[in-house]
Amino acid sequence: MRTRSQTLASPLFRKILFSAFALIIATVGSADYLMTRYTGERELEQVQKNLELALRIYAGELNQLKNAELEQWARRADGQANARITVIDAGGAVLAETRHERGSMENHARRPEVSTALRGGIGIAKRHSSSLGVDFLYVAQPASTAESRSVVLRLAVPLASVNEALGEVRGRILRASLLLALLALIAAYVYTRGLTARIRAIQSYAESLANERLAEGAELNESGKDELGVLAESLRRMARQLREVVDLLKVESGRREAILASMREGVLAVDEELRVTFCNEAFLRAAGTPDAPAGPVPVVQLARTPAFLGLLRQVLTSGRTVRDKLPLAPVSGRSYEIYAEPLGIGGQKGALAILHDITELERLERVRKDFVANVSHELRTPLAAIRGYAETLLDGALEDQEYNRKFLEIIRSNAIRLTNIASDLLVVSELEQERGEQEPASEVGVHEVVEAALRTVESAARVRNIRVEIGPDSGLKVKGQRFRLEQALVNLMDNAVKFGKEGGVVRVESRQTEGGLVEVDVADDGIGIPSEDLPRIFERFYRVDKARSRAAGGTGLGLSIVKHVAEVFGGTVRVKSEVGQGSTFTLSLPAA
Ligand code: ADP
Repeated sequence: MRTRSQTLASPLFRKILFSAFALIIATVGSADYLMTRYTGERELEQVQKNLELALRIYAGELNQLKNAELEQWARRADGQANARITVIDAGGAVLAETRHERGSMENHARRPEVSTALRGGIGIAKRHSSSLGVDFLYVAQPASTAESRSVVLRLAVPLASVNEALGEVRGRILRASLLLALLALIAAYVYTRGLTARIRAIQSYAESLANERLAEGAELNESGKDELGVLAESLRRMARQLREVVDLLKVESGRREAILASMREGVLAVDEELRVTFCNEAFLRAAGTPDAPAGPVPVVQLARTPAFLGLLRQVLTSGRTVRDKLPLAPVSGRSYEIYAEPLGIGGQKGALAILHDITELERLERVRKDFVANVSHELRTPLAAIRGYAETLLDGALEDQEYNRKFLEIIRSNAIRLTNIASDLLVVSELEQERGEQEPASEVGVHEVVEAALRTVESAARVRNIRVEIGPDSGLKVKGQRFRLEQALVNLMDNAVKFGKEGGVVRVESRQTEGGLVEVDVADDGIGIPSEDLPRIFERFYRVDKARSRAAGGTGLGLSIVKHVAEVFGGTVRVKSEVGQGSTFTLSLPAA
């Protein structure tokens, strides 16, 4: 509720009220003035009429009187009519006078009312009486007495008594006017107060629209049928529409935020002063900053790389899109392709940067290059040997009974090596493709696959006098392609035989873990692997001892195939090894 003093403080209220007051006072004032004047005139007219009537009556009485009786008659008539009575003869001499000493009175022939009456008319005058010293209303008419044919009979009343009567009437009119004015003022005050209150209510509702909650919960109890009512309805409609638009915008911006937040690309928006106006999680991760900035912090607090800051500056000054590849936080070792473009929102300049993590792409590119280099290197050696021995044979060694057969055998073993490399490469490439597309998998019994692999490595084991022991069938099953698992086990067991101790033992055991995994160990008691080589032995073409591996017919691709197979099966492969003690490779695959 608005208090009285608040209402009075309202400029609009004061203006309307002041105007109403001025209007009322002017209207009542002028009505009062006109009525007073009109009533005054009417009152004077009435007094005048009465005097004229009395004149006519007294003129009749005068006819019968002698001049000596005039004085006495006049006094009686004065008492009756309560009016000053004067009788003046044609020469202007006063014959009778009721309110003054007759003898001392001057000639009255020149008095306007008397001179009019002497000419036969009714003379009327309002004048200050020099005889009595007060204002009088005089009315005179010609008359006659028994002795004089032409006299003037004059009646007069003091204006003071008329004014007195008038004053009373004026007083009444004034009181009525004041009462009327007061009532009008009260009505104007009440009306203005009501009007101001309605306008105030609309005003505060409109103000509340400007705040964030858009007059949520605010009520506008204005239901008038006039312009204010229509205005209030328009405001209510506007508030509804605004709320709808704001809700829509909230949903829209929420959706946009969610999209930006879930994007794998880092997104950063900055203003002209390089202050962060928006950034998503991916950007924070890329910049290595754990917490989202509170407010528009300078971008340098998030990403310090001068190249990145320079790139943003370049976009801001040139107004053009800039693309570059650079690391954002050099410590992380990750590199990004950055696409930055100018951003202009609401007349404010800024820049938007989108960061695409290309670390993996670059790594793959490197791997691909290394691979091509490795392959050509791997192929070069056997090819050179084949060519060299073939040329030697052609150059005459063919006839040399002692060496020709030996040379041909070398050529054959290198050709076998090339074939091995080619078939292993084929397997690697197949496995790489399979990783992408899920092929139909079936349940595979681990024990039977181990037995099959054993048959493949048996002869090689026999050559090195190695005993291969396989554990009992415990019915374990994994899901995948049988021949792939066999390939992996053959590679592991073949390595164990190759690098195992001559006359030693290779053990193959399988078990199920609590985590639902089937683990197959292939353990030998051979040369072992130096710890510095352990992290790299699953790489393609990586070999600890190249000469030994080649001598044993290895391609350097065996373990990388095992790793691929493990991944295709959804599992892993790991190794434990000690130089001179032996190695244990463990395939860990999800149980079927
Ligand atoms: P390779 O064809 O040379 O055997 P792999 O990829 O199978 O290639 O193995 C890579 C290297 O890992 C081998 O050259 C060897 O040096 C080492 N290695 C693999 N298995 C064993 C093992 N059981 N004992 C010792 N060294 C091993």
